[in-house]
Amino acid sequence: MKTIVEKIDAAKLADEIEKQKIAAAARLLKEGGVVAFPTETVYGLGADAQNPEASRRIYEAKGRPSDNPLIVHIAAFSDLELITRELPKAAKVLGEHFWPGPLTMIFRKNDRIPLETTGGLDTVAVRMPNHPVALALIKASTGFIAAPSANVSGKPSPTTAEHVFCDMDGRIPMILDGGPVGIGIESTIVDFSEDTPMILRPGFITQEMVQQAIGSVSLDKGLEPDGATAPKAPGMKYRHYAPKAELVLVKGEMCRVIPAINRLVQEAGQQGKRAGVICTEETCGSYQGGIVKSIGSRKEKAGIARHMYGVLREFDELDVDIIFSESFSEEGLGQAIMNRMQKAAGHRVMEV
Ligand code: AMP
Ligand code: MG
Repeated sequence: MKTIVEKIDAAKLADEIEKQKIAAAARLLKEGGVVAFPTETVYGLGADAQNPEASRRIYEAKGRPSDNPLIVHIAAFSDLELITRELPKAAKVLGEHFWPGPLTMIFRKNDRIPLETTGGLDTVAVRMPNHPVALALIKASTGFIAAPSANVSGKPSPTTAEHVFCDMDGRIPMILDGGPVGIGIESTIVDFSEDTPMILRPGFITQEMVQQAIGSVSLDKGLEPDGATAPKAPGMKYRHYAPKAELVLVKGEMCRVIPAINRLVQEAGQQGKRAGVICTEETCGSYQGGIVKSIGSRKEKAGIARHMYGVLREFDELDVDIIFSESFSEEGLGQAIMNRMQKAAGHRVMEV
């Protein structure tokens, strides 16, 4: 299959040329095809959520385990009622606060969304993305677009159309290239299918932000790195976001982390391994060996989130054998950053 990459300018969606590009992509979706498109979090791999065959094509293109459900993307709040059995008041409040935006909510579903889309579950995850191209595409197609991240299963999520092309060339007919995404980390998932709301995946919207909007919200015990409890979101149990090289997170006070990474890089070199280092702008000058890349400034966590997957993918191109990374405080957005880094590292964490 030939993969067409169509550049699309989010600021010119009212122009005839861009309208035609959206219409062509929407046509593919209506026919049951798969189209990659930008959202504000990461690039998504879209298909008609109401069409079981279309959903199956997403799993096939990604190599995604069939028990890992897809998020259904909508473009109008009122569409939520068409696919859910009940809509708790707190969910409405949260949606009003953060939609369109990087928030996914889970509800008990009705029959409109088939089990092929929800990985066999009787619940459905729903999000309204805050990206003009995504919203235009959803509206122009079927209104309900299932879209996981547009990477091959297990790899870091794509934050540019180039990342998508690298993973999906020959597997899907079209990629809409809207440039690099703004957020760079997946949505926060809040489960409303049981009595009390629970965060199943930390994301750009922090636990404190959710609490401020609806009062208390718990955190799925399965997110704790000890692995004692299975996570409720099926996708959270898989190794994920992983670069080709082994990734080791080094945790502790920076005055100990820097010398520890320098020593680890040196030891790797002695074993004939090529080592990489993920550092921050503040610490870049402190490393003596290895291929050193900054993930952003410690003063701006949003920047770290935005660069994270791109840096992991850059190391894939450089053929390193092992990457040592600094860690970050788990406060605020740090919770989501560390969740992704820990999964990318397959929980190889070294305390110093
Ligand atoms: P992705 O779209 O690749 O970011 O992955 C979607 C995430 O949402 C995965 O971790 C899924 O397991 C999770 N998810 C989607 N639908 C549900 C659901 N109905 N219940 C629990 N988790 C879900
Ligand atoms: Mg994903």
